[in-house]
Amino acid sequence: MHQNRLHWLKKEPINARGEYVLYWMNVDQRVQDNPALVWALEKANEKHLPLVVGFNLWEKYPEANLRHFAFMIEGLVETQHELESRGIRFVMIRAPMPQGILRLAQLARLVVCDRGYLPMQRAWRAELVREAPCPVAEIEGHVVVPVATAYPKEAYSAAVLRPALEKLMPIFLHDEDPLPPAAAPFYSRDFAELLEGFEPVVPGPELTDSLAVDRSVGLTAFRGGYTAAWNSFEEWRERHLAHYDTQRNDPNARAQSGMSPYLHFGQISARRLALAALERGGEGAAAFVEELVVRRELSMNFVWYNPAFDRYDALPEWCLKTLHQHRNDPREYVYSLAEWEEARTHDPAWNACQLEMVRTGKMHGYMRMYWGKKLLEWSPSPELAWSWALYLNNKYELDGRDPNGYAGVAWCFGKHDRPWTERGVYGTIRYMNYNGLKRKFDIEKYIDTYCGSTLF
Ligand SMILES: Cc1cc2nc3c(=O)[nH]c(=O)nc-3n(C[C@H](O)[C@H](O)[C@H](O)COP(=O)(O)OP(=O)(O)OC[C@H]3O[C@@H](n4cnc5c(N)ncnc54)[C@H](O)[C@@H]3O)c2cc1C
Repeated sequence: MHQNRLHWLKKEPINARGEYVLYWMNVDQRVQDNPALVWALEKANEKHLPLVVGFNLWEKYPEANLRHFAFMIEGLVETQHELESRGIRFVMIRAPMPQGILRLAQLARLVVCDRGYLPMQRAWRAELVREAPCPVAEIEGHVVVPVATAYPKEAYSAAVLRPALEKLMPIFLHDEDPLPPAAAPFYSRDFAELLEGFEPVVPGPELTDSLAVDRSVGLTAFRGGYTAAWNSFEEWRERHLAHYDTQRNDPNARAQSGMSPYLHFGQISARRLALAALERGGEGAAAFVEELVVRRELSMNFVWYNPAFDRYDALPEWCLKTLHQHRNDPREYVYSLAEWEEARTHDPAWNACQLEMVRTGKMHGYMRMYWGKKLLEWSPSPELAWSWALYLNNKYELDGRDPNGYAGVAWCFGKHDRPWTERGVYGTIRYMNYNGLKRKFDIEKYIDTYCGSTLF
């Protein structure tokens, strides 16, 4: 593993009572190609200690609903099986975050965690550092190039970050170290006393059924887990990768990989996908790596360095200024949140986007741009449009609540972009319209696919 993936959050003191190395699995919920897991097991083997993998299941996880939990738990069923077949204990605790992990840390000699980029995830790690009676190491395996290695501050645009990533990719883009065999026997001690007051649970359909979470958002056809991700990727690679550069913006072509839900939950590694695409070569693979590495890691850069990333005022000065100058421009249509959410606009293309997201859990990437632009155009104010876009995105997208979602919404309001010709409502923010969709692909077909029947 490249040393820049390792961040020591706390080096001292050693916990002499420690009985195991604990890996707290949070954003990288996989066994395959997971450098944090590999490193944790290597450390456990060096110390002749067992490895325990802990997962804190928090039903009140902000903005998460049944759709998200069900997909995540499906993935964790496989993860548990994979770990236990390698002699590694997996403990899932139903507890407020990160209380379950703090308990497990009390008996750890060393705690290893993965790196999350959102402030909430960073705050949990800070709590762990305060409470753990042992060293804590964080391993950054969610991205190809560690965020601070790629760029030392917020990147203005992809044009700024791209050269840095292209230079570093040959160093960071190679096969992950394999998971070594576990040297110490399986840690079989009962955790009942240590976890008193919290409930150890087992991932599976019964757990999903028992969750006290928002159940108003239905399940999707996506199956969670590494195997589902990899099989679906391989099939897509055979049929569509070669045309990704020319067809990815056509929502009827199904030319996108569909990997974002899996990447969001860390069920598959971005490095694995990039390597597998590059193995095939060609323009399609190059365009795919641009999205998967440059665009995705620009989002991580955004949320890591910009503490206001989820607030309207995260936008650059020129965006705030131009939108402010045009805030009182007459709008052809003005919709309420309920009208947006229920896909009750005059625009069948917008309604189709919304219905695609609500029904399938994943809106096509090109349509997400149109969707966000129209929210800006037909909401009472840019601030409301911003908060409604994030609310809807995070509620219905299986890949929502992700740095990519915050950067994607911000892009619709000018972030990471440049000024364009001035017009009403948008000011100099880039504009999109229905005729543009019509010129690019068969928009009627897309509308027919998702507006063929009514949902509400
Ligand atoms: C308004 C708006 C909201 C968005 N919300 C989200 C979100 O909540 N979660 C999310 O993961 N993505 C979001 N995106 C980015 C992008 O649309 C999706 O990542 C992509 O459509 C996911 O589909 P895919 O995996 O089939 O993509 P593919 O085209 O197959 O791309 C492969 C991977 O590259 C990355 N990628 C592709 N396009 C982008 C992009 N524009 N920006 C950053 N990374 C990209 C993703 O990780 C994606 O899984 C949003 C974009 C916009 C404009």
